[in-house]
Amino acid sequence: MDLKQFVTIVEDWPKPGIKFKDITTLMDNGEAYKYATDQIVDYARDREIDLVVGPEARGFIIGCPVAYSLGVGFAPVRKDGKLPRETVKVDYGLEYGKDVLTIHKDAIKPGQRVLITDDLLATGGTIDATIKLVEELGGVVAGIAFLIELSYLGGHDKLDKYDVLTLMKF
Ligand code: 5GP
Repeated sequence: MDLKQFVTIVEDWPKPGIKFKDITTLMDNGEAYKYATDQIVDYARDREIDLVVGPEARGFIIGCPVAYSLGVGFAPVRKDGKLPRETVKVDYGLEYGKDVLTIHKDAIKPGQRVLITDDLLATGGTIDATIKLVEELGGVVAGIAFLIELSYLGGHDKLDKYDVLTLMKF
């Protein structure tokens, strides 16, 4: 299936010059969402995954059905102040300023093999911060899966130590 036909490119959103890749038109098509999920599940099956981890909010949309299919758990990575119990935190750079991502301290047991999921790889800042959280808790990043990679932003270069699946490149 050609998944690109289900991605809507929104010009000048959220600001002028950005061509936003809107994945909601993929998610709301049952066949396309299932096909994309199944591709990631097939990739994950060979990698003996114990847990799926994804950053809010679109990392949940990708990661939760994959975790369900694999029969493993899902642990959310969230912005600071959103998780109710003790967390570990990491600062990460945004285009303007910085932000903080967090995960519950007991979400990952040392040595667990983790699949990280997100919808889209751009500069790689979000995924880099998520990797740091997983590794700080002793998790092994056994795979990273995205629907989309924006190749021209070079985020992939930050991930050359890791096993990465992307379903679509723009
Ligand atoms: P990065 O941290 O790699 O620069 O940006 C990736 C993050 O920003 C992802 O979590 C993703 O959800 C969001 N993002 C950035 N650009 C887009 C886009 O064009 N479409 C979608 N769906 N998400 C984007």
